[in-house]
Amino acid sequence: AKDQGKNTFQFYSAQMNLHTVERLSLETSLRWALEREEFVLHYQPKIDLRSGRAVGVEALVRWQHPDMGLVSPATFIPLAEETGLIGPIGEWVLAQACAQCRAWLDQGLPPLRMAVNLSASQFARSDVLPQVMGVLKRTGLTPRMLELEITESTVMKNAEHSREVLHQLKARGIGLAIDDFGTGYSSLGYLKRFPLDSVKIDRSFVLDLPDDQDNAAITQAVIGMAHSLGLRVVAEGVETEAQLAFLRHHGCDEAQGYCLSPPLPAEALADFLRSRAGR
Ligand code: C2E
Ligand code: CA
Ligand code: CA
Ligand code: CA
Repeated sequence: AKDQGKNTFQFYSAQMNLHTVERLSLETSLRWALEREEFVLHYQPKIDLRSGRAVGVEALVRWQHPDMGLVSPATFIPLAEETGLIGPIGEWVLAQACAQCRAWLDQGLPPLRMAVNLSASQFARSDVLPQVMGVLKRTGLTPRMLELEITESTVMKNAEHSREVLHQLKARGIGLAIDDFGTGYSSLGYLKRFPLDSVKIDRSFVLDLPDDQDNAAITQAVIGMAHSLGLRVVAEGVETEAQLAFLRHHGCDEAQGYCLSPPLPAEALADFLRSRAGR
């Protein structure tokens, strides 16, 4: 047994390349990040394409690492998923986003739907419903003010479980959006089985609108189909006026992207809303 242990060690030590070491230190500091209050939320407005008004915001987490600076969630969310740290991080995000939503209401800003991303393992937890309802209760928000963004692939991972959980959330009045739609090889016809409110067209389809014929056709088809199923359509990653004009022309309901506003710290988002209120 002793020998075996040694071999195992050698096997792993051979694999211990720089990447692994970097990952380990990243994991260690990720473990501390919550206690050190190194996470921060930025908020990106969702604009209604008919009225031009901000109707919601999406909370996007960032990690302010003491040495590395602002770390993208695309880097640490997958690591947090693997290590189980997504549990406490996700809880913090949900609570922080709802508390911010409450603070804006108290400041007299017009009510905004708060959208929060739920990762696959957060969504797979058996206590997702009580967790969400608990946060709403503590922050005094009505369920209608909260929207959960769940990716197409998360929903597909365990379709039966998903259907059940989504129905429970929906029954309480919480908004449900399918995120990154078009990347997960499912069809809207299939998604009809889930009680959704909106569909977010993935950035990769919006990127080369209106020039790319395929993506233009896909976008139009998604908008038409979603509407016939009674779903709102949100386009993400809108960077140009031409993309915006195309989406508006084809009846897309809401848009989000750098062309309208990047994700902003809470204070700056409030300023953005105030400066638009008079328009
Ligand atoms: P996502 O949910 O698809 O979020 C949209 C991403 O696109 C955000 O990146 C946003 O900053 C970026 N974006 C917005 N407008 C534009 C644009 O016009 N052009 C381009 N090129 N990008 C744009 P971010 O903030 O880096 O987040 C990346 C991903 O990390 C998110 O993708 C989401 O999957 C995940 N994520 C972020 N925050 C959370 C969170 O609190 N919980 C969980 N579970 N996942 C999160
Ligand atoms: Ca999202
Ligand atoms: Ca998305
Ligand atoms: Ca995306």
